[in-house]
Amino acid sequence: MTPRTISVLGATGSIGDSALDVVARHPDHFTVAALTAHRKWERLAELCRRHRPEVAALSDPDAARALERALAGEGLPTRVLAGEAGLVDAATLPAADTVIAAIVGAAGLRPTLAAAHTGKRILLANKEALVIGGAAFMAAVEDGGATLLPIDSEHNAIFQCLPPGYARNPAASGVRRILLTASGGPFRTRPHAELAAVTVDEACAHPNWVMGRKISVDSATMMNKGLEMIEAHWLFGVARESIEVVVHPESVVHSLVEYVDGSVLAQLGHPDMRTPIAQALAFPDRVDAGVPALELVRRGSLTFEAPDLDRFPCLALAYAALGAGGTAPAVLNAANEVAVAAFLGGRIRYTDIAPACAEALARLPARPVHTLDDALAADAEARIVTRAWLKLPMAA
Ligand code: NAD
Ligand code: MG
Repeated sequence: MTPRTISVLGATGSIGDSALDVVARHPDHFTVAALTAHRKWERLAELCRRHRPEVAALSDPDAARALERALAGEGLPTRVLAGEAGLVDAATLPAADTVIAAIVGAAGLRPTLAAAHTGKRILLANKEALVIGGAAFMAAVEDGGATLLPIDSEHNAIFQCLPPGYARNPAASGVRRILLTASGGPFRTRPHAELAAVTVDEACAHPNWVMGRKISVDSATMMNKGLEMIEAHWLFGVARESIEVVVHPESVVHSLVEYVDGSVLAQLGHPDMRTPIAQALAFPDRVDAGVPALELVRRGSLTFEAPDLDRFPCLALAYAALGAGGTAPAVLNAANEVAVAAFLGGRIRYTDIAPACAEALARLPARPVHTLDDALAADAEARIVTRAWLKLPMAA
């Protein structure tokens, strides 16, 4: 197996945690070159002691200074960097061949793009970067000679069910449809009337996965599945009409690919992110991920149902944004980031999230995206429009 030297962007998060767990199980194969985080310098200091990276970067400069002081005199090889430039340096470090892109939200876009431009093998968790960047992101991957391997569990499942060497051309491979599974989150059966009063803790209590708070809320609204539909469109070159969302509350079938001959291939496993991370880290080989065997007989049954678009209007908005194309996905993503942060901060209700996103899409009709700057301008406008509509202060 090819040994890999790895930069983990978003090392202190849920995906960062799972990735470092897999890495630590295979010290002969995997070496950590760089670790990044936003502000949690104490946690990053612990990770530096354990993994001894060449570089540690924090986007917050005060936190970076605190980390530097904490590590001084410990005899570690670690240089501490700060700000977005520090994250970009960590993402493009010459010593690293692999970058795990696990920053949450638009903040991950520039470092992940920089990794693409420098031809890294990118293990992508940060779906928002692809939703905003779209064609420009995929062009950067191609121009930079980078390799994109999905670790979002559904996309990793699809990747595993597609033929080897699949080149973003479904027709050429006999692929008819992608079936994207969704758990339905914590509110799949909650009476409609109760949704306006649900708390942050309830929204973050996912039935099957333990994840960061932003993606947990996105799973509750099913915006996560909407973003994943857009992610699948770019990763696999599949049209919106050929992606179907199937609600599967057990989260055992991670997604499926349907071929023109009627064959449907699926990938199954415990809902544990270490499986897709290990698959992508070792690809095309396999390594132990520390995940227990799936006991199908003990599970007994697996169930499937159609998504309820009245209960989950965010999913319908994502369908519309992907259909409109251009700047619409970037607008949707930005509005959602603002609204989810406001919900997590106790400023708005759960049921304000979808109308805020709908409003941003209505006020900022889709424009063509010629360069990444077009998408970034739409992202910035959508944040302003959404803050104004939700009556939030204008500062981030
Ligand atoms: P998390 O909140 O647990 O961790 C986020 C990480 O990003 C942290 O290390 C944090 O320090 C860093 N970060 C946050 N804001 C930042 C900023 N402004 N600048 C620089 N760094 C910043 O999130 P997570 O659950 O690990 O999710 C990370 C990404 O992976 C998201 O895009 C999410 O959609 C995707 N993803 C997560 C899961 C999961 O199981 N957690 C599954 C699939 C995809
Ligand atoms: Mg997913």
